[in-house]
Amino acid sequence: MQTGLLACDRYTPLDVAAARMAERRCSSMLVIENGEAVGIWTEHDCLYLDFADPGALRQPIGELMSGAIAKIAEDTPVSEAVMRFTAENRHHFLVVGGDGAPLGVLSRSDAVLNQGLESYLRLREVHHAMSTTPLVLPGTLTLSELASRMRFSQSDAAVITQPGQPLGIITERDLVRFVAGHPGQATIGELATRPLLSVGPHDTLIHARDYLITHRVRHLAVVDKAEQVIGLLGFREMLDGNEQFYLEDLRQALDQRDRALSQSRFNLELAERVIDASLEGIIITDAQTQIEFVNPAFTHMTGYRPEEVIGYTPAVLSSGRHDADFYDRMWHSLQNNGYWRGEIWNRRKNGQLYLELLTITAIRDEAGETTNYAALFSDITHIRENEEQVRRLAYYDALTRLPNRRLLEDRMSLSMRHAHRQQRRLAVIFIDLDHFKQVNDSLGHAIGDELLLEVSQRLAVHMREDDTLARLGGDEFIALLPGLDEPGEATLIAGRLIGAISTPFKIDGHEFRVGCSLGISFYPDDAATIDDLMRNADAAMYRAKQEGRNTYRLFNSKTHVQENHHLAMESALRDTAETGDGLDVHYQPIFDTQSGELRGAEALLRWYNPHFGHVAPVDFIPVAERSGLILPLGRRLIRAVAAQQQHWLAAGRQVVPVAVNLSAKQFWQNDLATRLKTILSEHDLPAGLIDVELTESTLLDESQEATGILQALRELGCGVAIDDFGTGYSSLRYLQDLPVTTLKIDRSFIARMQTAHGSRAIVAAISGLAHELGLKVVAEGVEEASQLAALKQYPVHCVQGFHLGMPAPADVFAQQWLGAE
Ligand code: C2E
Ligand code: CA
Ligand code: CA
Repeated sequence: MQTGLLACDRYTPLDVAAARMAERRCSSMLVIENGEAVGIWTEHDCLYLDFADPGALRQPIGELMSGAIAKIAEDTPVSEAVMRFTAENRHHFLVVGGDGAPLGVLSRSDAVLNQGLESYLRLREVHHAMSTTPLVLPGTLTLSELASRMRFSQSDAAVITQPGQPLGIITERDLVRFVAGHPGQATIGELATRPLLSVGPHDTLIHARDYLITHRVRHLAVVDKAEQVIGLLGFREMLDGNEQFYLEDLRQALDQRDRALSQSRFNLELAERVIDASLEGIIITDAQTQIEFVNPAFTHMTGYRPEEVIGYTPAVLSSGRHDADFYDRMWHSLQNNGYWRGEIWNRRKNGQLYLELLTITAIRDEAGETTNYAALFSDITHIRENEEQVRRLAYYDALTRLPNRRLLEDRMSLSMRHAHRQQRRLAVIFIDLDHFKQVNDSLGHAIGDELLLEVSQRLAVHMREDDTLARLGGDEFIALLPGLDEPGEATLIAGRLIGAISTPFKIDGHEFRVGCSLGISFYPDDAATIDDLMRNADAAMYRAKQEGRNTYRLFNSKTHVQENHHLAMESALRDTAETGDGLDVHYQPIFDTQSGELRGAEALLRWYNPHFGHVAPVDFIPVAERSGLILPLGRRLIRAVAAQQQHWLAAGRQVVPVAVNLSAKQFWQNDLATRLKTILSEHDLPAGLIDVELTESTLLDESQEATGILQALRELGCGVAIDDFGTGYSSLRYLQDLPVTTLKIDRSFIARMQTAHGSRAIVAAISGLAHELGLKVVAEGVEEASQLAALKQYPVHCVQGFHLGMPAPADVFAQQWLGAE
């Protein structure tokens, strides 16, 4: 860090402060009040000044400083500081002591100069680190324009071109000088520093660093053989990303040395050379494991000088953290393979624990006898500490904190196995923003980033509990939806996602719209592997883009056609729900099994649409349920039935209870009983003329809550039947606790009564038990006389079916079954 802090009070004019910074070559100025640091102004802040206005440059520094000073403790490892520079995109930290007192300022370049990354800088070449998109500006611009362009592109320097002149450069540091010197309206071409020193792309970074230090500059142009500027290299570029390269290189260097060591097993002389050059700790012992030699890195890491350990065994380093078993295994491997490698906790001379990555090699003579052991280790405590962070970086997107591609693929493979086992589907939705590039180009990357963040939040709202929303990078997102039964469940969500993105965004005072194009693929329908699923979703997304944007496409066009069919049906049903056009109710009679007298009827919806024709309930009821349209449709049906009963009563007809089917959504709507009560009273109907039919699955799970609703229905005089009994959960014990009145044995059992012996047994058992429990039993789907005859042997109270009476329009039904008017 820079000690000998540069400081002033808040009333110091900026140009005076800048002059001191320029003179001392300091990159920051602390603002002190009552002995406390209250703010900081750094050369980077130059980018926010209006150079065209001399008054602006003379303002008191207190008006311009940044109040929030990022602090860092003096005992922070430099490597961690490097991570923070990059992660927080900062240029400076105020270094504070244990008592919080400012000690100095740490800048990015300090960090690079002092990080001890020589080996890294030696290994890598300039082109690995340079910025390949340097800011290049014509010399005709003004300083203010330059500052805003640097700010916009987040560059700390700009290359200045001017015809007939060599390349020049202006850096943040130069701007400080200009603040001090008021160059007024001069163009940047006149102000640029020339010539801009250059290096080649294949020079090593250490060469570049030394070049920077010797010439006391902070940037170099990277120039290729044809003298073209292909990049810019500053401290910032050297710093960015070198942490991970450093770790990677460390690993490679270790491997290299391992190889060198094993090659030179019989050549200790060569080994010694490796040892001398090594940054890693090295111990050589004799065959009895007494230490004969240690290298300087050993002393550096453990704190023991050679004379303190020679003659002893490496047990002096033992931490006591590993049991005897651990060392047994190590020796076993050494004896059998001549080699051991692993992580081991040891203790430094000062008592501190550290984790080392240790490789031990047995060195053998011509006769194969072990003469020595060579141990090579590096301190990886720090790497372990960073592992958690590395893992986070490895699995999550840094901007949105959503899972990245890797985590997505992990989850996908898990979900695919689940889906396979449970015989269900999963959907992959590829989401790509429309016109994102325009936003980025016209409003800048900062707003682009903010947009992506908001998009991710809006999308996330529509994810269900087990769904995964991931960002692939850029403006591409993926939603993974497991546990689906029908494609419609995915398209429903896709529709919502499009809706969520299409409302305008308001960021930083800009209001604008972007859309998104979605592509959907299904497992197992469309592909069996992760790659294919993603590729197919991508292809579908591409089609969505071509066919108008702000829409979705399914990969499989057949599924797509089917879905379109469903959607068209849904929209037709929506019209019907509003107007009632095309809706009709048929009535099917229900008779006493023994006497054949009429006991009731079931109301069944019928729907005719000019486009689809007559649609069977099995086709439109599921669409109505999924879209929620079953609620208005069901209400229409109940009103129609009530009106019909009222009409028949008024006409003096015989009336019987009419049962209406309720799907789960209808049953669980808040005010079912209240609504029904209103309808009954609006039509002056006495109790007992409207019954309901429910399936077992409707009542499942929440029998507690169901009891209340059923009770309310019973109080209105409604009979409650369990429909399709035998196909679902079929727990009589559980029904016993619910206030239901009737069981309707599913027609599949009746149909198989003649053929499958088991079916009869089931009918016998269900009817017998239901009878015991005091429930009425209805057999539905009676199609033949023989079935009726068979049913008469069991306690089945009523029968319903084509053999006895078809569902028919109200007038036909009345004429046939309700006696004369
Ligand atoms: P469900 O509740 O089991 O209704 C009885 C179905 O069996 C009716 O079919 C009826 O026409 C048919 N059926 C009656 N006797 C026989 C027979 O002897 N043999 C055979 N094979 N079938 C017979 P539909 O009208 O096609 O209705 C099918 C399903 O649609 C109904 O099954 C019910 O679950 C549902 N549904 C019909 N109307 C409504 C309604 O208004 N609301 C609700 N939520 N669902 C309805
Ligand atoms: Ca029914
Ligand atoms: Ca039924």
